[in-house]
Amino acid sequence: MIKANFNDYQLSSELLKAISMLNFKNPTKVQQQVIPAVLEQKDIIVKSQTGSGKTAAYAIPICELVDWNENKPQALVIAPTRELAIQVKEDIFNIGRFKRLKVSAIYGKAPFYNQEKELKQKTHVVVGTPGRIIDHIERGTFDTSKIKYLVIDEADEMLNMGFIKQIETIISSLSKERVTMLLSATMPRGIEALCNKYMKEPIPVEIEEQNLAADRICQERYTVDQRDKIKLLRDITIVENPDRCMIFCNTKQKVEAVYNELANLKYICEKIHGGMEQRDRLRVMNDFKQGYFRYLVATDVAARGIDIDNISLVINYDIPQDRESYVHRIGRTGRINREGKAITFVTQHESNFLNDIHQYIGKEILLKERPKKETVNRSKQEFVEKINTTPEIKKSKGAQLSKEIMKLHINAGKKTKMRPVDIVGTLCNIKGMTAADIGIINIVDVSTFVEILNNKGESVFQALQKTPIKGRLRKVSKVDM
Ligand code: AMP
Repeated sequence: MIKANFNDYQLSSELLKAISMLNFKNPTKVQQQVIPAVLEQKDIIVKSQTGSGKTAAYAIPICELVDWNENKPQALVIAPTRELAIQVKEDIFNIGRFKRLKVSAIYGKAPFYNQEKELKQKTHVVVGTPGRIIDHIERGTFDTSKIKYLVIDEADEMLNMGFIKQIETIISSLSKERVTMLLSATMPRGIEALCNKYMKEPIPVEIEEQNLAADRICQERYTVDQRDKIKLLRDITIVENPDRCMIFCNTKQKVEAVYNELANLKYICEKIHGGMEQRDRLRVMNDFKQGYFRYLVATDVAARGIDIDNISLVINYDIPQDRESYVHRIGRTGRINREGKAITFVTQHESNFLNDIHQYIGKEILLKERPKKETVNRSKQEFVEKINTTPEIKKSKGAQLSKEIMKLHINAGKKTKMRPVDIVGTLCNIKGMTAADIGIINIVDVSTFVEILNNKGESVFQALQKTPIKGRLRKVSKVDM
């Protein structure tokens, strides 16, 4: 049955609290179909684009269904890129925040050992990229014996990236007694075959307004010579004067070149492409999400799935060479019922790509005249004012949820044989505390981190100054979150 209110589903109060604090007022269309189906343990195939609320659509029922007491991972989400894996991890973590769920992300180009240590501790949900998931399974550091929920997110992108064999390898290590969810913006044949092979009577979920996002976005194009693109970019950004803008190029060399040009022109901008270190890519993405700079020059690395609100303008400095990328790129703007604008630069030799896109989106992108010199000059003052003001910094989504949570650091860990039960035992003996007030406990070599929920952090912090843990008074301090 379709329900239009989160309270109508059989969800625990911990989940409803997180949903409300995340400011999700009503379930989106995809959520209305997916949440009840997964709660009933049905396999599903979702054809829906990013920005439709699809992550929460599977995250909400998974968080509801996993058993907190089980120490081994119960849900596995496979994502095509590290950025998406990290973002999905955060989304699931936020939704499961008050149920105290532990979510781990495992992906390549990051130290294996840290992930191994994390997986050794209690973990409810694992999100990862295919190669690294297989590495952990093969080395015996990821126990998949209790996985009951499998999500294959952005399946079409996995197919494009040649990951299908790896996904099959992962599936073959899992129990057949599981719920499988597959999400994809498009349904190429390779994906259909995967569904037929590994899913049990899946429920198809197709959100009718496939191009709703594309319809909501005002799309324009300019015909321009390659060598005039920078000048046009400058004029367009002056006239449009966006609060936040993504500029897409087809290669990393082009990203570097455009970034350098803009930096020379004193734009506060950053760049992101596959040739950069993972650490730097994540930093750039996070800073852009929080609004530290207005302009991000990117390759398609940043086009898919990445959830950044309030991008007012997307510029295709290079027209994408496949039509699906076009929809993904412009989908960075106009998210969840917001309006947005997408501008595409097209050179004379690229009409074949343009025709293909027109066919795919079912309409023609409006051809515009280049802005006149007077228009550019008229807009300049406002542009300069904006570019010289620091953008408003947004708090991360998790920050709101963390308001009533305090994280404490205890100066003792694995080396002194500290176990979760020692921490829980001590904390539950403090007046006013119950197990439900204890969040995630993370014990590392010489330290323990524990979260205290429900605004009880300060009193616990005070009490621990004079309460021994495992027979000794420990140094306890507050940790910034
Ligand atoms: P996704 O399609 O998973 O990339 O989600 C797009 C954005 O929608 C994310 O910022 C979510 O936090 C947000 N979102 C998900 N569900 C809802 C909802 N029911 N109401 C409002 N925003 C939502």
